[in-house]
Formats: sequence, C-alpha cells, structure tokens
Amino acid sequence: MAEPYQHKIANALGDPKLQLAIYSATGRLADGRRRTVSTEAFPDYQELRQHAHEIKKHTLNHLDFYLQELERNVEARGGRVIWARDGQEARAFIRNLARERATNLIVKSKSMTTEEIHLNEHLAQDGIEAVETDLGEYILQLAGEKPFHIIAPALHKTREDIAHLFERRLHAAHETTPERLTAIARAALREKFLEAGIGITGANFLVADSGMVVLVENEGNARLSCSAPRIHVAVSGIEKVIPRAQDLGVFLNLLGRSATGQPLSVYTSFLSGPRREGELDGPEEFYLVLLDNGRTKVLADAEKRQSLYCIRCGACLNNCPVYRKIGGYSYPWVYSGPIGKILTPQFMGVHQDPWLPFASSLCGACAEVCPVKIEIPKILLALRAEITEAGIQKGGMVEKLAFRMWAWLMRHPRIYERVAPVAAAAASRLPRAGPLKAWLSQRDLPPLARRSFRQLWRERRK
Ligand code: SF4
Repeated sequence: MAEPYQHKIANALGDPKLQLAIYSATGRLADGRRRTVSTEAFPDYQELRQHAHEIKKHTLNHLDFYLQELERNVEARGGRVIWARDGQEARAFIRNLARERATNLIVKSKSMTTEEIHLNEHLAQDGIEAVETDLGEYILQLAGEKPFHIIAPALHKTREDIAHLFERRLHAAHETTPERLTAIARAALREKFLEAGIGITGANFLVADSGMVVLVENEGNARLSCSAPRIHVAVSGIEKVIPRAQDLGVFLNLLGRSATGQPLSVYTSFLSGPRREGELDGPEEFYLVLLDNGRTKVLADAEKRQSLYCIRCGACLNNCPVYRKIGGYSYPWVYSGPIGKILTPQFMGVHQDPWLPFASSLCGACAEVCPVKIEIPKILLALRAEITEAGIQKGGMVEKLAFRMWAWLMRHPRIYERVAPVAAAAASRLPRAGPLKAWLSQRDLPPLARRSFRQLWRERRK
C-alpha cells in the first residue's frame, strides 16, 4: 500500500488548478525577490547576506549569553519571560493565564511557532477560542486547513474559493474582488479585536540588548493583536534572538526583499514591554514565551546548527522545483519546502519521515536565495548519510548497482570516454513504456549529446 505522503504528492501533481495556483504565486514572489536583490537595485546584497550569516552564527554559538541578556532586558521593562521546554509547557502557561484573567477569547497574528505547538486546537479543547487575524490564516481557519506556505498561508486558494467560504461560514454576500473580500474579513475580525482579552503574536526578531520584540507584517493585524487586548503574549523560538538593535538594519533589509520582494514590509513594530505611564497605547501586561521544543537538540550539532539561522522568509520554497510541484500539504510538518526538509528530521527524528531529505534534486536553488546563507543541500546530504548509516532507508538493488557503476566509471575517465557514446545511443532507444513512462509523464528525457565535452574540447584545440 502506498504511503500517505505518496498519495498527497500524487493528488497535488494531478490537480491542474492547484498546480497553476502554486506555480503563479511562487513565481510572482520569486520574481519580486529577484528584482529587489539585483545588483542594480541593491548593490550591497551579497555583503549583507554574509553579514547576516555571521551574526546568526555568532549568536547561536553564544545563545545562552544572549538569551539571558534578553531576559534581563525584557524584565527591566516590566515584561516577564517564560521558558518553555516544549509545546506542552508553552500551552499550559497560556491556558492558565487565560483562566486567571477570565478570558475565553484570544486574537492571534500569524505565527508558525504556535502552529508548531498546535496552540489553537489545544486551547479549543479548553473552551478558549483563538481567532487568527492574518487574512490568509483567517481564511484557512474558517476552512479548517493548515498553512500551505510559510509566508503566504492561503496561496493555494482562489478568490472564488474564498468567496464561497465566506458565504458559507460568514453568511456574506458573494464577492470576489480582493477589496470586498478583505472588507468582509475585516468587519468580522474587528469585533474579535475589541472583545479579546489576550493577543498572541510570534516574533520575527528578539533583540537582546534592548529586550525588544520585533514584528514584521503587511496587514497591521499583528500590531492590533498586541495593542488592542489588555495582555500581549509573544511566543517565539529561542533562535530568534539577535544581539543588538543595530543588527536589525541587516535583517530587515533582507527579510522583506527575500519574502515578497518589498524593500521593507508595510508594518515593522518594535515592542518593548507593557504600556508605561504616560503612553497612550500598548498592553497592560506583556509575556515572552521562549520555546525550545527541540531547538537545543539541533543546536548541539555543530554542522547542522545553521538550520536555526532561518528567518522564515519563504524564498527557498518559492525557488524550489520540488515545492513548486508538490505544494505545502505534501510535507509532514508545519515547515514545508527545503527548510522543512532539514528542520523536520532534526526536530522529529530521522525515523519519522526518512524519505524527506531524499526528496530533493540537490539543485542548490534554496542555498542560492537564502538570505542567511544556510547550506541546505549540505545538510540534506548529512541527513541522508545519517539515515542510510542507521539502516532506516535503503536504496533498491538496481539503484545501488547503478550508482556503484557510475562511481567506478567516474574514477576511470578513459573507460568512461569509451562507454559514454554507447550509453548515449542506448538511452535514445529506450522504450518509453513501463516504469519509464510514468517517470516521463512529469519530466523530460532530453537525448544525450552524441559527442562528449572532452571530444569537443580536443577538436577545438586542434
Ligand atoms: S531557509 Fe533561508 S530561504 Fe528558506 S525560509 Fe529560511 S531564511 Fe528563508
């Protein structure tokens, strides 16, 4: 029987509407990125990437120091830091806080960290309603679905889909323009903002030297979530800390460009603790939940530690030839695309979905666009080695034999040169039937060159 992931992938590949939606949305995001990081538009882009990489490397190598500095500064500004070893501890804190403050309505802005710990579902079991306020997340919550993409969660939904959903769930008129659909969602959400006792956000960056939480968004709902309710809770992975406020110049310049092709996102909020005397807005209470949930396990591996540099821009998804075909629901965990392929096995253990690191062509597009220069292909290879060495996933006999022959030929260039033309002629006569037919239904098999590069080179030199 086929594995569930194979079904999901087959379904995605066989759905032309979905294929078009993924291809055009990721294409638009990738084009936007390319335009804003081109040498003409942003001459310092490569230097800035390197700088961001160095800052992340330094911070993670001294994570204990910066987290303690962050805690001191958050508390000096009247906030409180909660250390959560796992999702259970983070959820328990939020549930108890809601009970103590007698609230059963929470507004939330988009946060992959709270998706990771299934916060909404657990709160619902305790009778607490958590309402997503990011438009894409709100649509998915109404539809009972999970985010399809790190930064564009409802990327796979068409306007018609959303219009039908709003008709059904909000009893709204059938509207299909983005403006009208947004107005419908806004009217429904405004009530929730006014009624909610707690606002929960994630965090894009945590600044150690000032105890600041930085939120980056385009809709303004995160800003409302942390200022309209009386209590603000920010839930963040421990890896989001950066040393100094001045480092923000590096990361903010990279994040918007890499995510959506914007030089800067529309709203950047710098939040430092609860409202102080004389201030007009802001929450009365502020809590920062610092979540481990497997991060220190990743941190312990010096080679793969760089997986934690991720600033969740989504550029690797938009440029990945695999994600652009199979989409976000084919991946087993909340993090999809290339970053999901390296985070999931490290967080969940390599036994859980051992196929994941192998589902890559290792083309390197992800590493090329990553603003913090995470060497994703290198980590994929390390994970493959781990899985193979542990005997969890074994290639078939034919595959093993083919790779052994290939490796042997590569070590014997003279023989390779003799064999290559024969192989090229044989490949052109392969019958397009049987297993090859299925393989070719999604791919091209261009004819191999009749003459090798070496031959051409020799002729040219003559
Ligand atoms: S791995 Fe790099 S490109 Fe992918 S989401 Fe993270 S920061 Fe962005």
